[in-house]
Amino acid sequence: MHPLIRTIIMSFFILSWLSPGVHAEDQYALKRGTMIERDIKGRGIKDKKVLEVMAKVPRHLFVDPALRGKAYEDYPLPIGEGQTISQPYIVAFMTEALRLKPTDRVLEIGTGSGYQAAVLAEIVKEVYSIEIRKPLAEDARTRFRNLGYKYIHVKHDDGYYGWEKHAPFDAIIVTAAANHIPTPLIKQLREGGRLIIPLGSTLYYQTLTLVTKKKGDLDVAQLLPVAFVPMVGEAGKKK
Ligand code: SAH
Repeated sequence: MHPLIRTIIMSFFILSWLSPGVHAEDQYALKRGTMIERDIKGRGIKDKKVLEVMAKVPRHLFVDPALRGKAYEDYPLPIGEGQTISQPYIVAFMTEALRLKPTDRVLEIGTGSGYQAAVLAEIVKEVYSIEIRKPLAEDARTRFRNLGYKYIHVKHDDGYYGWEKHAPFDAIIVTAAANHIPTPLIKQLREGGRLIIPLGSTLYYQTLTLVTKKKGDLDVAQLLPVAFVPMVGEAGKKK
């Protein structure tokens, strides 16, 4: 090898080692890789696109800086306001279950940190996300702007009523627990569309339930026991 080329390569390695920013990003990429193998692929997620996207989205930038080191672990983390960012496996599971296409338009209820919306936005054309807690909606909006997610639209509102203006949606994902499926969301789902929601007691455990709209009828499948924070607002009042 030419000595000049060797010097260039050596300086590159020394510089990247000395630069803490680059080094830290490498560490996160390594942790992300481990997460994919151990908790996502390792637990049965097969969809290539879901695996690819979860290996790419910087989950550590969706949590408080103090929690970044834990961002790729197999559990939910606090995001303020008593809310949580879901466990990575659950994000992958729900995303896979929706069988998304690149041309889809998706509605999310419960923006939270914005991580699930970012994962969706890497797969589909447009994501509409509603968050009832104003500070979380504002933080997520800032985060999307900083990370360049132009196709995620955030609304601060009660997601119970959906987002009529942009309906119908190809898929709807509810990331807070409810004891029934909000009727407006069923109405805003297009024919053939899929909706996933943690359904059951909002205090303890729920069942991830997948609903497919078929010729006006609903095809319902119960998929996985989960524990989500409750959906508040109108959903909390109705039985
Ligand atoms: N998807 C999020 C995690 C959501 S935690 C993420 O990737 O980080 C559940 C979120 O739903 C919380 O932020 C909570 O404030 C929100 N939420 C609860 N009830 C809601 C409602 N009625 N409409 C919209 N958002 C709601």
